[in-house]
Amino acid sequence: MYISTRGGEAKLSAAEAIKAGIAPDGGLFVPTVFPSIDKQQLIHLANSSYPQRALTILSKFLVDYSEEELLTCINNAYSDTKFDSKKIAPLVQVSSDKYVLELWHGPTSAFKDMALQLLPQLLSKALSKTNETDKIVILVATSGDTGKAALEGFKDVDQTEIIVFYPHDGVSQIQRLQMITQEGANVAVAAVHGNFDDAQTGVKKIFNDKAFGATLAQQGYRLSSANSINWGRLVPQIVYYFSAYADLVKEKRIEVGQRINFVVPTGNFGNILAGYYAKKMGLPIDKLICASNDNNVLSEFFKTGKYDRRRSFYKTLSPSMDILISSNLERLLYHITDNNASLISTWMNQLSTQGFYEIDSQYLEAIKEIFWADWVDDKNTVTTMRRVYLENKYLIDPHTAVAWEIGDRYRIQTGDTTPLIILSTASPFKFSDSVLESISTERDGSDKTEFEKLDEVARITGWSVPKRLRALEKAKPSHLQVCNKEEMPAFIKHTLLT
Ligand SMILES: *Cc1c(COP(=O)(O)O)cnc(C)c1O
Repeated sequence: MYISTRGGEAKLSAAEAIKAGIAPDGGLFVPTVFPSIDKQQLIHLANSSYPQRALTILSKFLVDYSEEELLTCINNAYSDTKFDSKKIAPLVQVSSDKYVLELWHGPTSAFKDMALQLLPQLLSKALSKTNETDKIVILVATSGDTGKAALEGFKDVDQTEIIVFYPHDGVSQIQRLQMITQEGANVAVAAVHGNFDDAQTGVKKIFNDKAFGATLAQQGYRLSSANSINWGRLVPQIVYYFSAYADLVKEKRIEVGQRINFVVPTGNFGNILAGYYAKKMGLPIDKLICASNDNNVLSEFFKTGKYDRRRSFYKTLSPSMDILISSNLERLLYHITDNNASLISTWMNQLSTQGFYEIDSQYLEAIKEIFWADWVDDKNTVTTMRRVYLENKYLIDPHTAVAWEIGDRYRIQTGDTTPLIILSTASPFKFSDSVLESISTERDGSDKTEFEKLDEVARITGWSVPKRLRALEKAKPSHLQVCNKEEMPAFIKHTLLT
């Protein structure tokens, strides 16, 4: 069963929690008990395909779904028509004891596909399992990758509508093109003036607006979320931590039971939280290393115990990590405080009214046993992309570069030589501007179009441009609306009710 981090009464089934997205009291749903996995099961996973691994993990959390239902969902999500790697999330060795987990082989070339191919399937099943007759309206605030991945996942899924808001100046040109050319009869997209937090705050406000919800309900619409606060977004992400470990065992790089570390480029804290859940289930993870960019609110928190959003917001080369409120941290705090919902409510209230909160040192110490954190600026991000390319003949995007650099720093500062897996969250082709800047010998490529840049990256590296990205050049833009954050409710009403 699932309960709210803020102590709301209701205990929901997985299907109900996925349908609701956020809890009625503003908290996030967490499982009341954590399933575990033993050595035998880890060995079994090593000899399984990715879909089989997913079935093993998901069936432990989504106990109200039948095995057959889960298999249908999984096979629809992780098929080779959608992913360009049979392994779904391949693990690449880059040096001894250092690996990259490539999470970007899905339809939008970003790691969000790992979760957002599966969430719509789980949600659609949840609707029929709970006899829901309303249409579910998925509201998404995106810093870039989520929006497109959600649109792709939900397009033309029965009984759903999807509305995506992205920050007008906060996404790359390719990301924007991906969204404004989206096809599907149930999709809408608008740019919002401001940054990602403006868009996210706007969406949160709409979720909390009871009157607005009632107006939509009269017309048979019910709001839900595909942001990483939805349990159906998080649970698929636990799978690839197990999958990476299983691959290491299968390739005989480690013994079953041996500990490994992960370094994760972090924004909303969803990806790394899934790693924490894997560890809670018994996956032998020693450290989870949290990597941030100039928006270093998380790395400061992990060092000082003070979460303080009263700071400048920076637009960086890794825009999907340009976040000042990492929503999923709330879930970690809930577990670390031994399910102290009233303490969580106090902190979250303080965050929204005063802009900061500070946790007690006992909790900080507990967090530090598991997490390590640091941050990297843009200049260093570019240097890292170049260094990795020259040293390893391996191309990474700026988000992955942030993680790579922090992983190296961790090893140097701690002397810890535990095998390290770097989570790679976007195809380098999605960020061809900065990738090109880092690997090109030409002084200035700024006069090139986005598509010439893609081709140039391909020419230099010999890698091929993902087909769907290349095809954007000829796709027709159909979603060009721009609004203020105050106008977001009106945009929704206009989309649904006219
Ligand atoms: C979303 C995203 C991240 C951050 O992941 P969180 O789960 O929000 O911490 C990192 N890199 C890329 C490319 C992303 O799209």
